[in-house]
Amino acid sequence: MARDNDCLFCKIVAGEIPSTVVRDGERTFAFRDVNPQAPVHVLVVPKDHHPNAEAIATEDPALAAELLRESAEVAKGEGIAESGYRIVLNTGSGAGQTVWHVHAHVLGGRPMHWPPG
Ligand code: AMP
Repeated sequence: MARDNDCLFCKIVAGEIPSTVVRDGERTFAFRDVNPQAPVHVLVVPKDHHPNAEAIATEDPALAAELLRESAEVAKGEGIAESGYRIVLNTGSGAGQTVWHVHAHVLGGRPMHWPPG
């Protein structure tokens, strides 16, 4: 499995840093965000290290699709599929990306205003 030893989310996937696990799939891992921005705030990551959305879509498009399918499964499991939810892929520091291992934020459980304030 492609891994970056300095990467926080690679360490979480490996169980070296604790997390609250939501789903543990063959190629993806979902866990609760430590600083939730909504009643449901789950991060879905590939187990392989890819720094951002463009990298995973280019290097492993099947895994990029799986990330989205797993995000939808998380939403169903959390009971927010019907009410609606947001999938966010922050890309680049100017957009708020702070961890350089691609992650889908799955947010819901409250009205999700758009555009965000
Ligand atoms: P981003 O700003 O899009 O890169 O998202 C990184 C997210 O990771 C933030 O929402 C953080 O709250 C979250 N985060 C950072 N460290 C941890 C951790 N140890 N466990 C769970 N979530 C974390």
